[in-house]
Amino acid sequence: MTRRLFGSAILLALCSAGMAARPIEFGEGAIALTGATVIDGTGALPRRGAVIVIVKDRIAYLGDRGGVRLLPQAKVLDLTGRWVVPGFIDAHAHLPRSAAEPFLTQLVAFGVTAIRAAGESYVEQNVELRDRIEGGALIAPRIRTAGVFIDARDTGFGNPTRVGTEAEIREVVRRDAARKVDFIKLYVGLPPALVQAAIQEAHQHGLRVIGHLGQTTWTEAAELGIDSLAHSWYCGLAHSIVPPQYREEFRDFYIPNRRFNPMLFRKWREVVDPNGPEVAQLASLLCKRRVEVHPNLVLGEAVTWGDDPAVLERLEPDFAPPEDAASWRRGRHLFSSYWPPEAMAEAKRAFPVMVQVIGAFHRRGVLLTAGTDYLNPWMTPGVAFHRELELLASAGIPPLEVLRIATRNGAEALGILQDAGTIEAGKRADLVTLTADPLASISNTRKIERVFLRGQPFEPARLLPRREKAGGS
Ligand SMILES: [Zn+2]
Repeated sequence: MTRRLFGSAILLALCSAGMAARPIEFGEGAIALTGATVIDGTGALPRRGAVIVIVKDRIAYLGDRGGVRLLPQAKVLDLTGRWVVPGFIDAHAHLPRSAAEPFLTQLVAFGVTAIRAAGESYVEQNVELRDRIEGGALIAPRIRTAGVFIDARDTGFGNPTRVGTEAEIREVVRRDAARKVDFIKLYVGLPPALVQAAIQEAHQHGLRVIGHLGQTTWTEAAELGIDSLAHSWYCGLAHSIVPPQYREEFRDFYIPNRRFNPMLFRKWREVVDPNGPEVAQLASLLCKRRVEVHPNLVLGEAVTWGDDPAVLERLEPDFAPPEDAASWRRGRHLFSSYWPPEAMAEAKRAFPVMVQVIGAFHRRGVLLTAGTDYLNPWMTPGVAFHRELELLASAGIPPLEVLRIATRNGAEALGILQDAGTIEAGKRADLVTLTADPLASISNTRKIERVFLRGQPFEPARLLPRREKAGGS
């Protein structure tokens, strides 16, 4: 006798490998992926020849071939010589105000099945998109979205939402909560007192808080209970890890910031030690408070090599909207366009030090995720995510761990780990199949054959209209 299990997610969740001595039978409506090497996203070693069975939008089975009996009605995809990984999760992106749908579909073509929109002025659009996508209406990654960028009244940036008192920032947080956002986004000009008020108010509403900080250090923010810290190269991290005697000098060392001095890169490189006590203490605090960090190295690299067309071309701007690609190719990266040549040269020497800091964070157990900050110059949708993975690997993080960062950790950060981020029975069937081994080279995450989104298979080329045109197919 074999057991028949179709459909019910509750029953399916019971079907994990090892429970059943007798094979589980799958037939009509089931898709079985056989023969592949499965990397489940938990950090566990790859499983050669494992079988994944998808029923509707769920993973119904992951286990040995002997644990299932596939009836003739089941669809079998022989993936011998391929690798299967969970769908990728971009922990930091921004959605365009118009034409968001083709942008989102393109992300799916690059294997991205969930994103966090990390702050917008058009919150309602993102909330509406999030809910439509959750209902399965679009070929798009699922979305979790932050509210408005909240900044200080005296900030040097153009954010429309600026506050000067604790009462004001609490009011903004309450307004965002009423709009049903998932996260609150705090920006660079906010001092610790306002960061603290915002975190308290957000947590009272069950919302997590992301900080792209400057005036408040990462150490201060972690102690105040922040949940997520964005960017490494041009924000609060840079001055949180200089030795105490240099703190004042580096107080405004984040970009874009009117008081930012690009000539400080040399000194920053000389005083920051990735193996020193400042990095160790901050890492230990981030671990203790389970603060998630998305270092967003890809944008840092683009800014730092913002005078180098080869770095832009590696990000394949032909996959960006044509008007963006044309404007990026016309000049230098916007954020470093005013840096004198000696500052550019020193920044290039200093960037690898920040990469080492991120490597040290990983070795010390900090919860890292992968984020791209799309919509910023040079951040080609989809391509930038895979470059971020290469940069994480360049920090000395082994490819298996980079994959966990790109999948499982992202799901934890977005608050969807119960349903996504790893390949496990009962979770949503968001999967990527690869034609080359991502553990041999993390760059092989680009070798995508198929993307399963909610159990539906897609070939990337069919989701990329510009590519199809160029290829004439
Ligand atoms: Zn951003």
